[in-house]
Formats: sequence, C-alpha cells, structure tokens
Amino acid sequence: MRPFELTAPATVADALGTSGTFLAGGTTLVDLMKLDVLTPRQVLDINGLPLRGIDTGDGLRIGALERMADIAAHPGVYPAISRALLLSASQQLRNMASIGGNLMQRTRCTYFRDVSTPCNRRDPGSGCPAITGANRMHAVLGTSEACVATHASDVAVALVALDASVRLAGPGGERVVALTDFYRTPGDTPQAEHDLRPGELITEVVVPRLDWAARSTYVKVRDRQSYEFALCSAAVAVDVRDGVVADARVAAGGVATVPWRLTAVEAALRGKPATEESFTAAAALAVEGAKPLADNAFKLSLLPRTIVRALLEVTEGSR
Ligand SMILES: Cc1cc2nc3c(=O)[nH]c(=O)nc-3n(C[C@H](O)[C@H](O)[C@H](O)COP(=O)(O)OP(=O)(O)OC[C@H]3O[C@@H](n4cnc5c(N)ncnc54)[C@H](O)[C@@H]3O)c2cc1C
Ligand code: SF4
Repeated sequence: MRPFELTAPATVADALGTSGTFLAGGTTLVDLMKLDVLTPRQVLDINGLPLRGIDTGDGLRIGALERMADIAAHPGVYPAISRALLLSASQQLRNMASIGGNLMQRTRCTYFRDVSTPCNRRDPGSGCPAITGANRMHAVLGTSEACVATHASDVAVALVALDASVRLAGPGGERVVALTDFYRTPGDTPQAEHDLRPGELITEVVVPRLDWAARSTYVKVRDRQSYEFALCSAAVAVDVRDGVVADARVAAGGVATVPWRLTAVEAALRGKPATEESFTAAAALAVEGAKPLADNAFKLSLLPRTIVRALLEVTEGSR
C-alpha cells in the first residue's frame, strides 16, 4: 500500500470540495488500495459526520453512513431492499459497510482488480481483456466495445426498481439525482461510472413512498448460496388487484453494466392476469438487445427465469 494522508473532517462542509477519497466502512476502498488499483494521496474518514438515520415517515430516507446490517434489520424498510442487503456479502461486512459506500463500490471484474492486466476502466485506452477472455460473470446488457463489466451492488438494483434517488452535497450546494440517472453505462468512457462530481458526497438515499412496495422482493442467483456476487438477480414489486397486475416495478442485476430497470417488462405486466404464463411472456422482454459473450450466453435464459421466480414469489397468495 502507498503512503497517504488520513484526515477526519468534523462537518459535512469540511468534507466537500477536496480531491480526497472518502472512507466509510473501508470494505471496498482498503481492498483496492492494497491491490494498488486505487492510490489516493488523501483519504477523508467521514465516519464522524452526521449521516446516519433511517426515516420511514413518508417513503424512506436513509443516511449515507447507515450500515447495511442496520438497514436490513429495520422493520420499515421495503422487503426488496432488506432482502437485497441480506443477500449481499457476509454478516461481518454488512456490519461494517455503509449504504453510500455500497452504491459507490467498484466492479468485481477480475481484470479491473489485477493491475498486471490492461483494463479500460482502470487505465483508459489500455484495452479490455474480458471481451475475449474469461467473461462468464460479465454483462450482456448496457455493454460497449470498451467495457463489459457488471455493476456489483445488490441493493442498487432494488433501489432502482423503487425509483430511489441520492442526495448529494457539494461545494456548489445540494442536488438530488435519480439512481437511474446517477449510474453511467460505459460507452467509450468506462472510467466515468457515475454522476458524482469532484468533491461531492452522497449524504442520503431517498426512496419515494410506494404503498404496495410491501409486496416486493429480491431474488439473487449465484454460484454458492452465501458470500458471493450475483450471476443474475431481480428486484420486483407488484400491485395485484382481483388477480390482475395493476402496476409493477422490475429491475435486474448481475447482467448489466449498471443496475438495470426493465420498463418494457413492467409495461407488459400491467393489466395482465397475475399468472405464470403472463409473467413468462413479460419477462422474455428483459433480454431484448442483450449481447452475450463467449461464456455468458446462459444469462439470456437465466434472467427471464429469475424474474418469473421473483414475480411468483411476491404474488404468492394473491393469484
Ligand atoms: C468479500 C466481499 C464480498 C462482497 N459481496 C457483496 C455482495 O454480494 N453484494 C454487494 O452488493 N456488495 C458486496 N460487497 C461489497 C460491499 O457491499 C462493499 O464493499 C460495501 O458496501 C462498501 O461500503 P463501505 O462503507 O465499506 O465503503 P468504502 O470501502 O469505505 O468506500 C467505497 C467507495 O465509496 C466511496 N464512498 C463511501 N461513502 C461515500 C459517500 N457517502 N459519498 C461518496 N462516496 C462515498 C469511497 O470513497 C470509495 O470509493 C462485497 C465486498 C467484499 C469485500
Ligand atoms: S470489462 Fe471493464 S472492468 Fe473488466 S477488463 Fe474490461 S474494461 Fe476493465
């Protein structure tokens, strides 16, 4: 690990507008510093800032420093969010890791994490060995010729399905950005992963009130049943009235370069009977435009099946 300066700002204002790297739980940052993937000169420990708290008054407001384990255990948090958190990492990591850090975590592409290999995301213009190399874990949606890495966060998928936003504080003031706009597909600048401007801090995650989000879930398919990233995942929320889907939210993870909202699937579900047949027909639309690589074509059938499983699970008892 390279030498760096560690400071701990006392107020949010003190933390803004510097070129330092924020340290929350450290479960991603310290890993990447040890691997030499990130080499910040200045690290700002933000754990003393007043960015805690879960407010369930009207929708959800979650402070950026709230720990994953505490959010998952909160009774007012929508099931898709708590399930996505509980299926992430391990209990020890969830005790340490914050939601702000989770949303800002980097891809788990093995080439990105290995500085002896080229990687356009880590070293722009150096190439993407995953396109012709080991790409079983990689994306089939939102890819480009520069990068095919998946976004690693589980909870971001549930948050995107539920129309969540992040509140950002910066030297120029505050702004609120929808998570669907926050994350960027790689295009020809895969190093630009999100809309956080230099010196800006995520202060809060905001989830609008959705009365039927109690009927939501997150299904994660992975190579082993714990402590593993998603091969494919689906976050769904469904409003069923008299056996018919009145409204739905669907998003996918493990298959795309950003948490992937599936509005075509949602539209195909609305007004249809809540049956396995109509779920299967709608879920088939999830892979429209997908571009499989040599080792990951299986995601084209796994994704629709994962969505159907989530829809069946969440509508159990109302079909
Ligand atoms: C072995 C292992 C398995 C894992 N499995 C999963 C999994 O299955 N699913 C999953 O979703 N995640 C998984 N993770 C990732 C884990 O969830 C993240 O490491 C964690 O959420 C990051 O939070 P943190 O508070 O530790 O962030 P840190 O490591 O402190 O920071 C991560 C990044 O976010 C930035 N940052 C932190 N807070 C803010 C803020 N408020 N505003 C702006 N930038 C900020 C930091 O500068 C840094 O770049 C796994 C991690 C490990 C090590
Ligand atoms: S997929 Fe993206 S992160 Fe992985 S090697 Fe290629 S450019 Fe790097």
